[in-house]
This record gives sequence, C-alpha cells and structure tokens, in this order.
Amino acid sequence: MKSKYVTVVIPVYNERDNIIVLKDAIHQVFSQLNYQYYILFVDDGSSDGTSNILYTISCLDECVGFISLSRNFGHQAALKAGLDMASGDCVISMDGDMQHPPSLLPSLLEQWENGYDVVNTIRQDNSSNHSFKKTSSRLFYKVINSISDFEIKAGSADFRLMSRKVVDIICSLNENDPFFRGLVNWVGFSQTYVVYTAQERFSGSSKYSIKKMFQLAVRGITSFSVRPLYIAIYPGMLISILSLLYIPYALYSYLTGTAQPGWTSLIVTVAFFSGLQLMLLGIIGLYLGKVISESKSRPVYIIKESNLIKKTAVR
Ligand code: UDP
Ligand code: MG
Repeated sequence: MKSKYVTVVIPVYNERDNIIVLKDAIHQVFSQLNYQYYILFVDDGSSDGTSNILYTISCLDECVGFISLSRNFGHQAALKAGLDMASGDCVISMDGDMQHPPSLLPSLLEQWENGYDVVNTIRQDNSSNHSFKKTSSRLFYKVINSISDFEIKAGSADFRLMSRKVVDIICSLNENDPFFRGLVNWVGFSQTYVVYTAQERFSGSSKYSIKKMFQLAVRGITSFSVRPLYIAIYPGMLISILSLLYIPYALYSYLTGTAQPGWTSLIVTVAFFSGLQLMLLGIIGLYLGKVISESKSRPVYIIKESNLIKKTAVR
C-alpha cells in the first residue's frame, strides 16, 4: 500500500543558522517512519540570506521546497501561505528555530492515525524561571479565555498536525487577519493534544518582538470576541447611577449656599472620563479597523518566488 503523504510547513524569518539543522532533524525522524514527506519552508521576507540557503537546499534535496514572501508579513500570514501551498494527507506546522522538537512528530502522526483530525501541542514548562515571555503568555491566555466562547489551552503554539480535511477548511476561510490558534479550535472536528517540553532556540533570538506579541494578542482577542466592545456598558451604567446620586447633593449645596468653586473635582472628573472615553474609542477603533481591512480584501501575503513541487502533483 502506498504510504501516506505528510507536509511539514515551517515559517522562517531570519533563521539562517537553524534551517539545515532543522531539516536534517526532520529527515532523521522520517527515516524511521513509513511516510512520504515534504518539508515546505516559508521565508517571511528574511534579510539575513535565509532565502539563498533555502534555494540551494531545495535544489539539492527533493524533499525540501520553499516559498519566499515579498516582505515580512508576520508569522500567521506566513503560516497561511504555507498551508495554502501544502499538499498531502496531513500537514504539520512548526517553528523554524528547533524550539518545537522534531522528535515529537511520530507522536503527532500516531494520534492522527488513531483518527484525530487535529493534534495540537501543549508546551510544558519545567523550569521555574518566570521570564517576561512566559508571564505575558499566561496573561494572554487568561484574558482570551475569559472573554471568548471557547478555550485555548495555555502553552498552545502553532505546532500541530491537521488532516487534509481541516487544512482545506482553514484555507477556505479567507480571513484577512488569521489567528490560527483560535481558528483551528473554532473549526471543530476531533481534536487532541500532546505535551512536550520546549527546547531553547538553536540559534539567533526571538523574532516575536514585544510589538509583534502585542499585535498577536490584540488579533487573538478581537478575532474571537466582541466582548471588549461591551466594556463601555458597565462603566456607563455605573457612572449614570453615580451622577444621579450626585444631583441631590449638588442641589443641596446650591440651596444652602455652600457650593464650592469645585475646580479640583472638576479636573479630576474630566481627566478620568476623558481617559476612559479615549480607551473605549480605541477599542471601537480596533474593531472598525478590522472591518475596514476585511472589506479591502487584500491578500494576506504575496509570494515573491518559490521552488516547490506543484501542489496538485502529489495530491
Ligand atoms: N516568524 C515569522 N515571521 C515573523 C516572526 C516570526 O515567520 O514575523 C517565525 C520564526 O522564524 C519562527 C516562528 O515564526 O520560525 C516563531 O517565532 P519565534 O521563534 O521568534 O517566536 P518565539 O518562539 O520566541 O515565541
Ligand atoms: Mg521560537
């Protein structure tokens, strides 16, 4: 019987020194398994020569292909590009810095063979050090889980296996601002997860700057919940009640002639409420911005060059 076909999609942004190590590790893993496989790197507009390395490897190694985006579109967009191009019976997505251990691939495939359409991974932290990244990640999952209608497990990453069926659905969604951790959860089907311990990066430093982490968090929250828009309702109600209570006091002060110039309270009130209003306007702006960018329906990414087996050839 012909063995099943697996594509491994790896978005990379300035990961020059990690590519060969990762590719070799994946070859090593698949040499012990009975699958046809293809490693598809997505160069997300790297400027460190990553695309030259990918080009050379893809010419020498028939199991490796790549696409290069016209600029840095961001991890989620690069992942979308990879999924769109990926062929095969299932697709595995993972990071390009060796933090997602290739040794976990057999466990993902085993769960897929057990009948699961999505095999997620959960990162387990053994170390007790509380870095900024870990703390902010924990906070992000707390916030997103408290305001959205489904749960994304803390420690989730874009390291997962998806069956062809799920990949096709995810690719057809055509979201302008995809957040895969939410989308995969949202599509349903039978899902499970395996636990792993994250390694240190093999080389280089994180490509998720604080700005990119913040953008991802905002995208995650605004893609899957409109509850922040309702924030205005609660302080609004509270403030209306408080101002109603304030009226008798103001009348009393006026009638008894004890009314103060009230400069301090005025300034405090104005400052507080302008801040609150600006924040709420900002939240509305975030959602409005999303509506505008969806309505423009620009592509999520643009491919500059590629060297890969044609999608249809291996389906
Ligand atoms: N990445 C990308 N585009 C970006 C930022 C990151 O393709 O704009 C890739 C990066 O090369 C890596 C993966 O996304 O393969 C995860 O990024 P990173 O390891 O820097 O994130 P961290 O593990 O620090 O959260
Ligand atoms: Mg990493």
